[in-house]
Amino acid sequence: MKDNTKLTVAGRPHQRPAHPVNTPVERASTYLFPTYDDYLEGAKTITYGRLGTPTHRALEEAVTALEGGFETRLAPSGLQACTAALLAFVAAGDHVLMTDTAYDPTRKFCDRFLKRFGVETTFYDPLAGEEEIAALMRPNTKVIFAESPGSLTFEVQDLPALARAAHAGAAKLIVDNTWGAGYFCKPIALGADVSLQAATKYLVGHADALVGTLTSADEQTAQKIFYALLQLGSNVSADDAYLALRGMRTLSARLERHQENANEIIKWLRKQDAVERILHPAQKGFPGHNVWKRDLTGASGLFGVVLKPTPMPALKAFFNAFKLFGIGFSWGGYESLVLHVKPEQYRSATEWSEAGPVIRFHAGLEDIEDLKIDLERAFMALAAAQK
Ligand SMILES: *Cc1c(COP(=O)(O)O)cnc(C)c1O
Repeated sequence: MKDNTKLTVAGRPHQRPAHPVNTPVERASTYLFPTYDDYLEGAKTITYGRLGTPTHRALEEAVTALEGGFETRLAPSGLQACTAALLAFVAAGDHVLMTDTAYDPTRKFCDRFLKRFGVETTFYDPLAGEEEIAALMRPNTKVIFAESPGSLTFEVQDLPALARAAHAGAAKLIVDNTWGAGYFCKPIALGADVSLQAATKYLVGHADALVGTLTSADEQTAQKIFYALLQLGSNVSADDAYLALRGMRTLSARLERHQENANEIIKWLRKQDAVERILHPAQKGFPGHNVWKRDLTGASGLFGVVLKPTPMPALKAFFNAFKLFGIGFSWGGYESLVLHVKPEQYRSATEWSEAGPVIRFHAGLEDIEDLKIDLERAFMALAAAQK
């Protein structure tokens, strides 16, 4: 089956003779087993709310269908998917290789939390080749943590090369696949051991719930992920699991439209004098563009723009002129967003040397003509403030 079809059939209820089309919310902590034998049998699937209800199982099934791999487990946020995945594979004395363009809270988890427990992290250039990565590997390197494309600056990483480097040693390759949403990018097919997502973004798709997903390539990896989440006491509410699964039903239609609107906006932005550079993997000559073309099947709606150096009052006028693009964190919902981001503050192995401000856009599902009017308004305000 193709993804468009999988997204509509995976995780659907199976009861007979009649059942609702979509999986309903089942809220429960305690489950009652009619007999002792039922308790022995039931314990193999549904036992207790924290270990998941049929609503959670349905979402897990749908994400596995999309990402490929052996099994999916849920986390209460995208960030906890990142931290639990790291905790599943490291112990005191171990070493982690992490991309310099990882989502900042993921970086800080290594720099602050893991460090206190005797786990050392080395950050690597997201554009490093296989040999450079191999040179950074140590006998105690247990995880290579990639995020592709990278947060804020969108460099695309060579996942098959990272997988080879990891598997030549004793390491697992964990990939934060939030941008590709499991739809445009399939890290497990490219060699990753774990593909995780902030489902908060495109799977939920409506900016109204936080969920993380962790998909493992094989049973042994899946067991480690399961125990990490279990021992951390992770729990996702059945309501939030339901929202993520409901969001997934329209994922392909939404992503195609996010992509289309992003491409149109970029075409428009390229003609603006105030724009220095577009940060988006589908742009020819962009770092990792060829890898993007080889490994991904499309591009989502999140991208960046470097403006020419801009004084703060002009930048404020620019942001305040938007009426449709909202100033807000996160992305992946149906709505357009714009944010001033500062990549120079969040890297250590590489240097961000662009002089002008970096503006991150999320292209929502609004009509493209209305979005262009909004952009026009902001760029006119920017120009007027610099006169
Ligand atoms: C948002 C985000 C996260 C964290 O997700 P939350 O659900 O907000 O915790 C992790 N990784 C990436 C790439 C993200 O964009």
